Amino acid sequence: MEGIDISFLENKAKEIRRNIVDMIYHSGTGHIGGSLSSTDILVTLYYKILRIDPRNPVWTDRDRFILSKGHSVEGYYTILADLGFIDREELKTYCKFNSRLTGHPTVKIPGVEANTGSLGHGLSLGVGMALAGKMDKKDYKVYVLMGDGEQAEGSIWEAAMCAKHYKLDNLIGIVDRNKLQIGGPTEYVMSLGDLSAKWASFGWEVVEVNGHNISQLVTVFESVPVKYNKPTLILAHTVKGKGVSFIEDKPEWHHKIPTSEEYTRMIRELNQEDDNVREDIGSAV
Ligand SMILES: [Mg+2]
Repeated sequence: MEGIDISFLENKAKEIRRNIVDMIYHSGTGHIGGSLSSTDILVTLYYKILRIDPRNPVWTDRDRFILSKGHSVEGYYTILADLGFIDREELKTYCKFNSRLTGHPTVKIPGVEANTGSLGHGLSLGVGMALAGKMDKKDYKVYVLMGDGEQAEGSIWEAAMCAKHYKLDNLIGIVDRNKLQIGGPTEYVMSLGDLSAKWASFGWEVVEVNGHNISQLVTVFESVPVKYNKPTLILAHTVKGKGVSFIEDKPEWHHKIPTSEEYTRMIRELNQEDDNVREDIGSAV
């Protein structure tokens, strides 16, 4: 979107983080760590980069976004409500009986492109959408957000080969590289090694970025496609639980639910000024 500046996006990310914590605390369910690690990526895409129209969610020329790490849904739903794809009141039904807002997204929700949550499928779906765009001579782009634990799924690498084969420079994969998954550190559960080199060896143009630096994220997203005829992989270095100091980088907060005392501490921290854009992982990029 034109006219959206970085400070607006940073403030929006704070607001979304507070809502993530609210939804999870009040519903007693959810995935807090991965939702907080991917917040800045989602905010940058939805408020600055994606060509979308909430009044017409199935507009044929829209950019497509697929949340392949489908469990990180609370920030996603909050953004869809904030932009008007769904009613804000509906957020209160999250994970309640008969609600559309289940723990993993489905296409029953306006703005959601694919049912996800069974990991490893989002990129294949994205390949199909990107290939269809090329065949139809459309100029939309397809963005797929994956987890780093999800990189252990073999189907991702089939899709990666396919995207290169069909020269899908309208496809952008993003890895939320928070270095943790449900069972612990990714390098302990299924070591990824040099993830950048792996994606490059599959023919993708790889860009590494601090996934909490919105200015960097905007610059990178606006530079896509980085190389003509090549899909782009954005390796976003993040911190699981980002924004709440006492849960950051702690694997048990993959889907732990805060106590009332922890909830109060979380909201207090998230209300603090300038807490969101710390440069403490800059050296990892
Ligand atoms: Mg992870």
